[in-house]
Amino acid sequence: MCKGNANLIIQGKRIIKLAQKKEDALNTQFKNTILITVDVEDWFQVENFKPYISFADWTDKEIRVEKNTYSLLDFFAKSKIKATFFILGWIAERIPQLVQAIHSQGHEVASHGYNHKLCLQQPTKDLKKDLVTSKNLLESIINFPVYGYRAPSFSINNNTLQLIEECGYLYDSSFNSFGMNKRYGQIDSPSNDKKGIASQFSDSLYELPISNIKFGKRIFPWGGGGYFRLIPLPLFNKGVQYILKKEQAYLFYLHPWEIDLKQPIVKEASKLFKFRHYVNLDKTLSKLSTLIQSLKQCQFTTCYQYLESLNLTPNTQ
Ligand SMILES: [Zn+2]
Repeated sequence: MCKGNANLIIQGKRIIKLAQKKEDALNTQFKNTILITVDVEDWFQVENFKPYISFADWTDKEIRVEKNTYSLLDFFAKSKIKATFFILGWIAERIPQLVQAIHSQGHEVASHGYNHKLCLQQPTKDLKKDLVTSKNLLESIINFPVYGYRAPSFSINNNTLQLIEECGYLYDSSFNSFGMNKRYGQIDSPSNDKKGIASQFSDSLYELPISNIKFGKRIFPWGGGGYFRLIPLPLFNKGVQYILKKEQAYLFYLHPWEIDLKQPIVKEASKLFKFRHYVNLDKTLSKLSTLIQSLKQCQFTTCYQYLESLNLTPNTQ
């Protein structure tokens, strides 16, 4: 081959490489986003078991959340995923090293309140105390700001959001549009002023809702938890793809106890509550792993990083 031709080939290869780089950058910019979130609470703190296990009884129960959360951290490390952990203050106080491990592994630490009392059942004064105490506690453990809040059982309304903002949070991630669960709260028209899936509630508070499927006027719960364990994965996966096509982002939630097959059984709970809590626990991790595999073209980020990518954080505004 003559020298001229060889140079031409080298130049051609360079141009193709540059074009590929440009395309990769564009792809990253327009990649769909997956927000995996974890509500860090233990098996005895869930709403379904409240009639059978009182707050006063919590101290006598076997703590299993630490081991389960470390299993999730290992799983996320292997999957190269960064997630957002909404941590209960009661847990953070007892296991601060777990909060530190979550933070030091590059995940986001956020608040799930102090003692899992539903927001809508608390007087304003108590709720405000809960919001401030849990935020301060987490911040003092990791020496880093806490930006996000998730209400126990998604129990929020507009007044709650107002309080969340007053207590210094940047975002809330508690709105679940599935109206058939009566514990979930409702807020006014969260789709106003939308950027990505983030709605602006006020000057300084954003809402990152749980992802559901809206089909006509009907809402199907598609954001995780028991619904994820119950719905067959191929169908669930199709639903996620449908959401991504419409929203370009998908927000999923799970709990550490959802991967725990050895947790104590609350025998006195009603059949319905037992079904909701224990159905398909043995399948959670393998289903999640397969779901993540099928979404490997997407970018997985924390809630704060997502807001940052939309220029909605104080540093980027
Ligand atoms: Zn919870």
